[in-house]
Amino acid sequence: MTSPQAGQLFIVATPIGNLSDLSQRAIETLNEVDLIAAEDTRHSKYLLQHYSISTQTISLHEHNEQQRSELLCKRLLAGESIALISDAGTPLISDPGYRFVTTVRDAGICVVPIPGSCALIAALSASGLASDRFSFEGFLPSKSSARRQVFETLKSDTRTLIFYESPRRLLAALNEAKIIFGDERRACLARELTKLHETIQTSSLAELTDWVSRDENQQRGECVLLIEGTNTEVTADEQEMSRLLGLLLTELPVKKAAAIVASITGGSKNEAYQLALKLQQKD
Ligand code: SAM
Repeated sequence: MTSPQAGQLFIVATPIGNLSDLSQRAIETLNEVDLIAAEDTRHSKYLLQHYSISTQTISLHEHNEQQRSELLCKRLLAGESIALISDAGTPLISDPGYRFVTTVRDAGICVVPIPGSCALIAALSASGLASDRFSFEGFLPSKSSARRQVFETLKSDTRTLIFYESPRRLLAALNEAKIIFGDERRACLARELTKLHETIQTSSLAELTDWVSRDENQQRGECVLLIEGTNTEVTADEQEMSRLLGLLLTELPVKKAAAIVASITGGSKNEAYQLALKLQQKD
């Protein structure tokens, strides 16, 4: 049940580069609300100034989300309307806001999405990779060993896999992906979307890695990495083994993890051990 006297919370998507990508409805909403909760008020100032929006702003970021949620919830209950924006794209997508939205909904306040830019959707739509089923995996871990474990866990997934990655780690991530998914698996690098140097390159992982390693410009700016799903049949047992090893190896030595996984799945100890060794490989 929504509370009748309360205001509304609008989740407003903002551009991921090109300022013209702010929708008419988003502009109207940002002008009409009583308050804009922004991930970084200084960052959002440029967008708001560009559209001559003078609505008051307040910060809501990962370090103050808990206490700000309570404060803003009270203001919503008192009848004010609020828009939530992040630095770029759709709030809550690898951005703060999840706890705030949950608090607001639990209080019976209406939450209204104002959709727009989102890097993963823009990248997928232009990648040429299958878009009927996909899995957004957020940011890849910064440590090589953790990244490899993520890739191992996902290598049998048939859906298109989508990752956000820092340009500093892009080449390392591509090299690891090439080893784990194989040279021939297709992938797409979508960089600087909607900006001057927008680049969307789809090819095999081997070609993509080679291209990025030879051109340092491809290791700059913001990027989304997409990897095509497998079309090879992998047994449910093999998938389960990878998944369990991915979890256990963060806590246990290789031999122990492999033995436990083999006994849970009923699979071969040697197979589990070989897989565990691959997952455990350090740089
Ligand atoms: N909320 C945003 C969205 O809707 O996509 C994502 C925010 S997340 C903190 C930032 C990451 O999104 C970047 O590191 C990059 O991986 C991706 N990203 C954002 N803008 C992008 C762009 N213009 N081109 C490519 N990737 C972008």
